[in-house]
Amino acid sequence: MREKIVAGNWKMNCDIQEMKTLLNDLKEKDFNDGVKVMVAPSFTNLYLAKEILNDTNIEVAAQNMHEAENGAYTGEISAPMLTSLQVKTVILGHSERRSIFNESNELLASKVKSALAKGLKIIFCIGEELEARKNNKHVEVVKKQLSDSVFTLTEEEWKSITLAYEPVWAIGTGETASPQQAQDMHTGIRKMIADTYSSATAEKVSILYGGSVKPNNAKEIFAMQDVDGGLIGGAALKAEDFTQIINSF
Ligand code: 13P
Repeated sequence: MREKIVAGNWKMNCDIQEMKTLLNDLKEKDFNDGVKVMVAPSFTNLYLAKEILNDTNIEVAAQNMHEAENGAYTGEISAPMLTSLQVKTVILGHSERRSIFNESNELLASKVKSALAKGLKIIFCIGEELEARKNNKHVEVVKKQLSDSVFTLTEEEWKSITLAYEPVWAIGTGETASPQQAQDMHTGIRKMIADTYSSATAEKVSILYGGSVKPNNAKEIFAMQDVDGGLIGGAALKAEDFTQIINSF
């Protein structure tokens, strides 16, 4: 049985006050059993988020980290800094990191290694841009992202990996992949894992879908057999919407 996860990636949103309101609203909500709920606030909010959510089952994840442990990297945050806050999960490879901050598959491979070395779990994002989808190259793109960054890991290390398939053309656009498009890619990804490692490992990896998931479409997407949850952007900033998405399982 794969873990079901709904994670809110807040991106560069929510100052301290806004976060307090959002988290306190979320604490009032009832979530369906059997779904792991996570929020990923900005670095400046992580400490307080952990405190506010201390007595809940809502987990706190980071949105990024630097690959080095420490040193002269002005403005950066390392894996040990995250673990010292008891943060257990980090999102890596988000398409905004790839496209706006030029993070390559190779750089992401070193971030993944560094995170694993410090015992962090990873939500590793993959997904094609519109051009690739139009040219029917989406499977190829995703395969390369996986091959260059996470298919060098050991099977044991895969126990700490969750994947998030986020087609770039669906992020923040209001246009989602159809449930069937999501399912097709997720099955394809699972087969790639099975071919590289084993079907036992492939069956255990949770693969989340991300890209314009909203209360009105979450149910049909989560109903697909290989979709194990969602990575939610805009809709995770409203407690009511996020809760409805979580409870769509
Ligand atoms: P939206 O849900 O706003 O499309 O964002 C998805 C995303 O990028 C989550 O990481």
